[in-house]
Amino acid sequence: MTGTVPTWPATSDPDAVVALLEQRAPLVGYERCRALHDELAEVAEGRAVVVQGGDCAEMFTDMSAASTRRKAEQLIALGAALTASTGRRAVHIGRIAGQFAKPRSHATEPGPDGEPLPVYRGDAVNALTPTIESRTADPWRMLTAYDLAADVLAALPGDVYASHEMLLADYEQPLIRHDAATGARYGTSGHLLWAGHRTRDPYGPQISMLAGIANPVAVKLGPGLTPADLAVLIDRLDPARTPGRLTLIARFGADDIRRKLPALAETVRRSGARPVWLSDPMHGNTVRTRDGRKTRVVDDMADEVTGFAEVLLAAGSHPGGLHLELSPDDVTECVATRAEVATAALPRYRTACDPRLNPAQARTLLSAYAAAVPD
Ligand code: PEP
Ligand code: MN
Repeated sequence: MTGTVPTWPATSDPDAVVALLEQRAPLVGYERCRALHDELAEVAEGRAVVVQGGDCAEMFTDMSAASTRRKAEQLIALGAALTASTGRRAVHIGRIAGQFAKPRSHATEPGPDGEPLPVYRGDAVNALTPTIESRTADPWRMLTAYDLAADVLAALPGDVYASHEMLLADYEQPLIRHDAATGARYGTSGHLLWAGHRTRDPYGPQISMLAGIANPVAVKLGPGLTPADLAVLIDRLDPARTPGRLTLIARFGADDIRRKLPALAETVRRSGARPVWLSDPMHGNTVRTRDGRKTRVVDDMADEVTGFAEVLLAAGSHPGGLHLELSPDDVTECVATRAEVATAALPRYRTACDPRLNPAQARTLLSAYAAAVPD
């Protein structure tokens, strides 16, 4: 298996799984997708704010009703804090009930004995345990992903929407359904679906999937994205310039946000689109400890959030909220300052993929956002 997007072993039968997923019920309802679209339109107009967050990669072994409720309660508490500090209603969106497939920059990583091992690509594809058997992609895992996502959605309080990266065509395509009442097609794997930084080629398969559904959709904007490509993305994803349809998630890193975002904000202004703008301060600020683990510095993330808000306010746009990787548990995966990076011990490091904020760290980023956004 090579490349960003997972592929299945030649000996496996993904089509059998696709056929079964086609027979399964939609995971989310069309009405709830439309309700989120309406709420995001309010955000686009500056009247509401978004807190989107959850695991980098959800794990099958963590999919209990109890853990779902704790994640939902965390989002609702963060939303309440944002409402208190910004005076705006909060829209809660989990990275939940489908965040099971990861794009990767490298196909292999060094295994425990130093031998190259296929990388972990999310529980819908392979397993985290560092053995060749566990890391071999297995399309049947998509069926487990579906079943567990259904359980999670059933346990989610009514006020939290579900979102994930729309990466795996063999999972997403069979769940795209036709709503007879409106004639529209919806991706029924989640209310909001997004294309990641590595798969946002304006003519690539992920953007084509998003272009073909009526859900609210999002795309990550990161280093290397040209204004010309952003213009094509807007034309493909939001041709009618409908507030609530398109969310743009900026993830440039603290060093680049103030330099790179202004030109893209200008591209958006000229396009006539009114997207929701979110800051993902996680993915442009990943660094490594001396023992090679990924971590992120809260100071840097707060600085990116502040820069994001400054740039958008200067461009006359509403900085609509935050997209975070976080945990309701007191994990130690991110650190407070740059000085801590090299030697950080990170005793409660439990993420399957990228380092998450613990509750206190998440609140620090919310405070940075609230301080930068006027009432
Ligand atoms: C992610 O959200 O986990 C991710 C991989 O982000 P990005 O596409 O921005 O790199
Ligand atoms: Mn991540």
